[in-house]
Amino acid sequence: MTNAEALRRLRQRRKAAGVCTNCGGPLDDVNKKTCFDCRHKPNAKYMKALRQKRSEEGLCTRCGREPEPGYALCTECREYIADWRLEKC
Ligand SMILES: [Zn+2]
Ligand SMILES: [Zn+2]
Repeated sequence: MTNAEALRRLRQRRKAAGVCTNCGGPLDDVNKKTCFDCRHKPNAKYMKALRQKRSEEGLCTRCGREPEPGYALCTECREYIADWRLEKC
């Protein structure tokens, strides 16, 4: 069984049980497949779309502020990411 199949079966089980198909939590609205939290929290797809929109508008893709000239990110975010990279290495 592939991962995709396992996920589909899990979702089907959750749907049959009347719980959120995403996290298995209780549904606030029985007509919806996912719970309130899963419908409203920023998900990966939403963040990707947001970053895309910011880069098209020429804004810092991380925070949406004015970026440093010639860069995709603002000074603060570039410093943050540089620190993060140093810690990882
Ligand atoms: Zn949920
Ligand atoms: Zn920024």
